[in-house]
Amino acid sequence: MTGAATGPIRKVVIVGGGTAGWMTAAALSRAVSADVSVTLVESEEIGTVGVGEATIPSLLDFNRIIGIDEDAFVRATQATFKLGIRFRDWGRIGDDYLHPFGTHGRDVAGVSFHQLWLRAAARGETATPGPIGDYCLSHVAARLGRFNRPVADPSAVLSTLSYAFHFDAGLYAAYLRTLSKAAGATRVEGRIAGVVRNAETGFIDAVTLADGRRVDGELFVDCSGFRSLLLGDALGVPFTSWQHWLPCDRAWAVPSTRQGPLTPYTRATADRAGWRWRIPLQHRVGNGHVYSSAYSDDDTAVRALLDGLEGTPLAEPRQLRFVAGRRERLWEKNCVAIGLAGGFLEPLESTSIHLIQSGITRLLSLFPDRSFNPVEIAEYNRLLLREYDQVRDFIILHYHATTRSDSPFWDHCRTMTLPASLADKLALWAGNARLFREAGELFTPDSWIAVLLGQGQRPTGCDPLVAALPVGEAAAFLAHLRDVIGRTAAAMPTHETFIAQHCAAPALQTA
Ligand SMILES: Cc1cc2nc3c(=O)[nH]c(=O)nc-3n(C[C@H](O)[C@H](O)[C@H](O)COP(=O)(O)OP(=O)(O)OC[C@H]3O[C@@H](n4cnc5c(N)ncnc54)[C@H](O)[C@@H]3O)c2cc1C
Repeated sequence: MTGAATGPIRKVVIVGGGTAGWMTAAALSRAVSADVSVTLVESEEIGTVGVGEATIPSLLDFNRIIGIDEDAFVRATQATFKLGIRFRDWGRIGDDYLHPFGTHGRDVAGVSFHQLWLRAAARGETATPGPIGDYCLSHVAARLGRFNRPVADPSAVLSTLSYAFHFDAGLYAAYLRTLSKAAGATRVEGRIAGVVRNAETGFIDAVTLADGRRVDGELFVDCSGFRSLLLGDALGVPFTSWQHWLPCDRAWAVPSTRQGPLTPYTRATADRAGWRWRIPLQHRVGNGHVYSSAYSDDDTAVRALLDGLEGTPLAEPRQLRFVAGRRERLWEKNCVAIGLAGGFLEPLESTSIHLIQSGITRLLSLFPDRSFNPVEIAEYNRLLLREYDQVRDFIILHYHATTRSDSPFWDHCRTMTLPASLADKLALWAGNARLFREAGELFTPDSWIAVLLGQGQRPTGCDPLVAALPVGEAAAFLAHLRDVIGRTAAAMPTHETFIAQHCAAPALQTA
């Protein structure tokens, strides 16, 4: 295989069978023609990272692409529905806000809704507008513990609901494996011990297994996790660390028994040197403590996790180590890295699986032939790297927008120098609350607004064009919206009832 070759790709080899590998296999095996082989190599001996349970709404698009029946998927993966993330103690200890999926209110005459709300909140007149979350259906439903699927009719408030899932990562990979095999993908069990490169071009020709077998390919997708066997080890693409901005580099994870109602949101509670997650699934709760080893030792971190559990632990806590950052390029020669092999931005906004999906959909839209056009490879890298950078900025915002000074960790986060792209964004917000979504940017202004206001970042002014909207009319509009959203949310079934009626999983043995 050389870069000078021509003709269509006939052999795709995916290295790794975690979430990234099986999502890639499921999508590629459906997209390519019958004469293209899709082979996935994985090693049970090595195993997968085994976490990754919270998602964002874009996963619904992926499920559609690979033809998933949503109720069957929810049942098979012990999933629950997620309407957003509840953040506790981030801006300061005692704070409690939600970053919901979906939109706040409705823009009026070209003026963004949040501008209208900001003016009303600043005037403090007659009826206060209440928190901005009251104008987002996903937010109100999450607070009430309710869930329903959105409707297609854009005039209905229920059309504005947006959701994602929490699921069991192991069951998700197994589910995708079944789908991929049914679509024609082949699984090879074995530990990769070597990578064979073409002496002339440096392209990857094959991987060799510990037992001597050889798996040849033309396009290689590196889904080998943090090891980055192909892109990092074999091709030597350097890693860019973002640890200065995202100092958390370890996590303890432990499942526990379910306690109380099934909340339709992830909970992220800030701690002295990081934060703790709580992810409700049908059969158990996923818990974790993400922390910085520069500011906490392992024992303190695991104790904080276990002390904060609401249920009984179902296993011994497991430690994971990582560094936030990404490879300088995600596609090099005939190798594309998807998932942890390409980079990792800690799980605070559940973006990893989305970035896997984004890598897959962009690979499909730039699917190569055997000439591996460098222009297309450069475009893939440009799009994906920019997306990583944009997500990075949004996650940094959570750490930086704080007044916490109760630990050296928060002192570092509060005072650190920001990436220029984020500093510019915050400067635009600080004055007249301007927010713009860049091309291809994952997080919408609604997401930025929820986190900025949730963490106490009030702008000094608002859009002067709001003045064109009479105060009385605007107040009536706000009151009406709030009322309709509140009533729509209250009429939904509880999250638990919805699952019981549509997609309850069979009881599983938990261990
Ligand atoms: C603490 C933590 C929490 C997270 N939470 C979330 C979350 O809530 N939401 C989210 O979207 N993401 C989350 N993630 C990220 C998520 O876990 C990953 O994006 C996802 O699991 C994909 O992992 P992967 O498939 O890239 O790697 P892995 O799961 O590590 O899979 C790697 C695969 O490569 C194989 N392999 C490696 N070396 C060899 C070899 N030599 N030979 C053969 N096979 C090999 C392994 O056997 C395995 O099959 C979290 C990550 C961490 C660390």
